Amino acid sequence: MVEPRQLRRSGRIPGRLVVRPGARGQDTVAEYSVATAMPDRVAFGRWLDQAIAQARLAEGSCAVLLIHVADFREVDEVFEVRADEILAQDAGALAQAALEPHDFLARLARDEFAVGVPEMVHHGRAQELGSRVLGSLAEFVASRGLQMQIAVNIGIATYPRDAQTSESLMQAARVSLTEARQSGSNQVRLFNSAAGERARRTRVIRRDLWTAIQDDALSLQFQPKFDARRRNVVGAEALCRWRHPALGQVSPAEFIAVAEQSSQIDKLDDWVIASVCRHVRQWQDAGLPLVPVAINVSGLRFASRNFPQYLLEQIHQHDIPPSAITLEITETAAMKDIAKSLETLAELQSLGIQVALDDFGSGYSSLGYLKRLRVGTLKIDRTLIGGLDADAQGRAIVASMVALAHELRMKVVAEGVESNSQLELLNEMGCDEVQGYLLSLPLDAAGFAEALAQKSAAREVQSVR
Ligand code: C2E
Ligand code: CA
Ligand code: CA
Repeated sequence: MVEPRQLRRSGRIPGRLVVRPGARGQDTVAEYSVATAMPDRVAFGRWLDQAIAQARLAEGSCAVLLIHVADFREVDEVFEVRADEILAQDAGALAQAALEPHDFLARLARDEFAVGVPEMVHHGRAQELGSRVLGSLAEFVASRGLQMQIAVNIGIATYPRDAQTSESLMQAARVSLTEARQSGSNQVRLFNSAAGERARRTRVIRRDLWTAIQDDALSLQFQPKFDARRRNVVGAEALCRWRHPALGQVSPAEFIAVAEQSSQIDKLDDWVIASVCRHVRQWQDAGLPLVPVAINVSGLRFASRNFPQYLLEQIHQHDIPPSAITLEITETAAMKDIAKSLETLAELQSLGIQVALDDFGSGYSSLGYLKRLRVGTLKIDRTLIGGLDADAQGRAIVASMVALAHELRMKVVAEGVESNSQLELLNEMGCDEVQGYLLSLPLDAAGFAEALAQKSAAREVQSVR
């Protein structure tokens, strides 16, 4: 292991970078993580700039290996050793075992290392080196008698093949690392352009979503829900839409996932709530019949402290009855923090706001929790409805869900109804409401107002008769 003293004396750290003294004092070296005696993020950035400059001149190549070592904390607790400290102290040994003298090792974060490889002649060497580092780490753990599994993943990117600047090369290595982590433990991944494209798209969505919410660039569609027997409109589900100026129409499944990862979901959910209330107010003003409109809320927003208050405020501000709004929350989200969900549900119930459990049957579907959750409506997932035509087993599952929900005094809605045979089967089972392409696609606000107007006309015809 290289001692800090030694480094200060020579002013050099492994690799080719000359380190200048730090700004704060004689004893520190700014680019040097004293705790681990290893070059840090800043030092690595400089090394990479130089390596790329040299590769550019020589028309050569170089590579970055980003190494993530997971589960430090867990190990600390179980074995009562600071595995991260041991690992950090001995990372020099690890480097010697796996790397060539001119490779450059740095510690970027508590659980993240980087290896810079200059003069990378071919792509295969990167993969081989990644596997060698993995092997060396495993050996290191075994030799210390730490009976533990550490999950190591490595992402690799090379200049000039994957990126041309040090910043974008690091970004590409990070994309590969994310891919590696998503495919399990102890994986080495080389950069591939499809993953890079996915990551770029996610970055664009994350960057532009905030402004889209702010500027009212999102819109809503309303998919009618029908009474299963009489087939008249009895409600709607609000569905968020976004046409991105460059990407075109982005599916809500995609941008909502990004919103959830980037803490923008609360803003988005609140925008939807306010917009739905505004539309309901307009339909009410136009003298159209009032039906409950369902809003999808993310688990994060649902569990947040001021959620019921915000919803009630919006309802009051727009002067609409609480019964005009219902909520849909997915089974998985509700189960995540069951205690908090129960609390929020009770509060909403006292305010007169109905909640439906969405996508039921797509996840864990604990019947025990269903009894405790006490939501008013069960919404059977469209994959189960799609399975109705397939076999008797699929029908038996849906039939027993309908029966169970009714036993618990819940209303049942089937979503994704696409065929007449499905509709008939659901009717026979006693399903209350249906929603799906067979009866109506999601409509824009004007289209849904039209559907409400037709409902009102049909009512009048009935009353004349
Ligand atoms: P979801 O809550 O399960 O919404 C129903 C989805 O099924 C919608 O997709 C709808 O267009 C689609 N659908 C309706 N009828 C049929 C049918 O007959 N067959 C099939 N195959 N699909 C049908 P969409 O609009 O793409 O929404 C996808 C998901 O995005 C929603 O799933 C919901 O989880 C989420 N989402 C949509 N809008 C919002 C929103 O405003 N806020 C939040 N938090 N999530 C939203
Ligand atoms: Ca829904
Ligand atoms: Ca659903």
